[in-house]
Amino acid sequence: MTAAATFEVRSPLDGSRLAEVPVYDARAVAEAVARARAAQPAWAALGARARARRMEALAGVLRRRSDEIAQLVRSETGKPFGEALTEVAVSADLIRFYARVAPDHLGRRHVGAGWMPWKKAWVEREPHGVVGAIAPWNYPFILVMDCVSPALFAGNGVVVKPSEFTPLSALLVQELCRDAGLPAELVQVATGDGRTGEALVRAGVDRIVFTGSTSAGRKVMRAAADTLTPVTLELGGKDPAIVLEDADLERAVPGVVFGALFNAGQTCLSVERVLVARHIQDDFVRRAAELVASLRVGTSPDADVGPMVTPAQAEIVERHVSEAMAGGARVVTGGQRQAPGSGVYLPTILVDVDPSMDVWSRESFGPLLPVMPFDDDDEAVRMANAVGYGLFASVWTRDRDRGLRMARRLRAGGVSINDVLSHYAVPGLPMGGVGQSGFGRRRGIEGLEEMCRTRTLLVDRGRRRHEPWWFPYGAAQTRLTRAVLEWRTRRGPGGLIAFVRGLLRKGNGHGG
Ligand code: NAD
Repeated sequence: MTAAATFEVRSPLDGSRLAEVPVYDARAVAEAVARARAAQPAWAALGARARARRMEALAGVLRRRSDEIAQLVRSETGKPFGEALTEVAVSADLIRFYARVAPDHLGRRHVGAGWMPWKKAWVEREPHGVVGAIAPWNYPFILVMDCVSPALFAGNGVVVKPSEFTPLSALLVQELCRDAGLPAELVQVATGDGRTGEALVRAGVDRIVFTGSTSAGRKVMRAAADTLTPVTLELGGKDPAIVLEDADLERAVPGVVFGALFNAGQTCLSVERVLVARHIQDDFVRRAAELVASLRVGTSPDADVGPMVTPAQAEIVERHVSEAMAGGARVVTGGQRQAPGSGVYLPTILVDVDPSMDVWSRESFGPLLPVMPFDDDDEAVRMANAVGYGLFASVWTRDRDRGLRMARRLRAGGVSINDVLSHYAVPGLPMGGVGQSGFGRRRGIEGLEEMCRTRTLLVDRGRRRHEPWWFPYGAAQTRLTRAVLEWRTRRGPGGLIAFVRGLLRKGNGHGG
């Protein structure tokens, strides 16, 4: 590659230097795309079943090297070891899911030829070619594997542009693919910052899957418009947890706290707003504060809540809390860094919050639980839907049907009842949002679909020389069209009878 500049990767655990990696400029990105493009046709030609078998070998490599992967993820994100290991398990489970469903799903789908039963029509899926995957830093292994896995199952090559804060996990993904015996150049990693990402969008790849902030997502879409490159945008969120008055607080409190604090709140589907029925709010907050007080917070491998991955994100969290306090919000617990200058922000519960505050309306992406009360279900839905984001939500209630009714009124890509974050442990559930949270889906069958395009095929055996609707036009053509219309707009045998009658009708067919 031709990149000249490099950048340092530092660990949020202690600031130590982990590596120095190249900044891919536009030329280096183009070379990476060319390498993936050269390797892709042979991979696609293997066919879906053979590819699935090769991908299962990758799952085996993930298992064998899981500790090493988790240690690396931990070193560049600072997250507790158990959370880092979760990234490996979730990624392996996704491979297993696709190995089971992809070969059949990618096969031929016959659709029937409608009123021309003598013809055959079907849909085939073919890979896009080279997929560009741009990833953020919060789950540097999962969010790369979430794109690489379905892209490879579908027969594509991939160029990954990882976050400039966490490029090492993506480089390890590339190595793991080689270790599993996948073609050496099929997965490329182009390290660098947003400019490298933009170069990738403009490099002539056949699809972009972008995971990151809403503001960068807009820029990606603008750049992709120039070449009409299709994009999937997985963006930010401000997910509400709605705790109804009939919720079992023994489950709702630890669930909501976990949902807000897992990965120090740096999860796209983490709880960012807590809406609690007014008359249980004090009880909820007291219990949540007790639980938070019992958590181990810091940089040790077995901490419950680790540090923020980037200094900039810690500053956003700090600003959201201080502005909320200036506006009259009260900190029940936390509200500051563990020590001045530390990357660890203490888990924080805020009450007396108001919807105009950034902590309620903008993504904080940190260990915060801002709490607001509501008086009835309608108000809870209104409050939940009042922000532009629409990624995930959770509803906590003993009444399953009431929870489901509310879930269907929430503007979100997914909703859990009495649960949180588990969506991600179900590989068959597609991930994605609405509104400012983006569009398109990762994971699940829908995520695989986005890695393919459809080719439709229609075959006539060619035994008849001429179709009645071909040139030159005449009464037969009009009669047939009318007869088809009669048939296709009636149910049951009456339609077929009308069709035959229509064909036998006399006249020039012009309706006069
Ligand atoms: P970010 O948008 O700053 O960066 C994401 C990636 O995009 C990085 O690799 C970055 O270098 C690259 N990038 C930045 N500007 C670009 C440009 N103009 N063109 C192309 N690429 C560009 O996000 P982040 O701070 O790394 O990650 C946190 C964000 O990601 C949060 O908003 C979070 O909600 C979101 N996220 C969403 C999901 C989801 O599934 N919806 C999952 C994880 C994270």
